[in-house]
Amino acid sequence: MKRRDFLISASCAALSLDSAQADTGFYSGYPDQITGWSAKHFKPQEFASKGNGYVRVRKEMIFSLDRVRSAVAHPVYITSAYRDQAHNALVGGVKHSRHLISDAVDINLRGLSAQQRHRLMWHLLAEGFTSFGSYSHIPNMLHADMRPNARIWHRGGGSHPVWFRQALTDWGWQRDRGATRRPATFRI
Ligand SMILES: [Zn+2]
Repeated sequence: MKRRDFLISASCAALSLDSAQADTGFYSGYPDQITGWSAKHFKPQEFASKGNGYVRVRKEMIFSLDRVRSAVAHPVYITSAYRDQAHNALVGGVKHSRHLISDAVDINLRGLSAQQRHRLMWHLLAEGFTSFGSYSHIPNMLHADMRPNARIWHRGGGSHPVWFRQALTDWGWQRDRGATRRPATFRI
């Protein structure tokens, strides 16, 4: 299967998972209430809202992140995952942020080389993450989420770092004409 086909089918799988397992497809509760947590490399606390401390995360995302963490073999630090509504508003998150929908993470890239960043993003793509954001004013942060319709953006001026762009093109993504404008868009 071509990488491009894989990405499309992964997106479709994510869509059907959302509708078929609306209640069972999430870990939810306060961190010490969550049962059946199966990730080797992460704890529920790492995904809790920085506002009310609650956790609601899509299981599929946790499984994927755990496989990414095993593949890259270095720590993957989660800055922000689930956000309750009030906290999302406080941090200026968009109204329909995937952080509310529970399939988004912001990853702290501090200390990682460009090569490690590229490799991390490549594995995120391989494990079903579809959408990514980079930020000039927060260069050590990568946003990744699993929305069905892939989207790429860059904020804060300039454009995506080379490792970011390279990970996408390795996956067969092509840059749209005029995409130097913010937010930059890519198509599959
Ligand atoms: Zn984010």
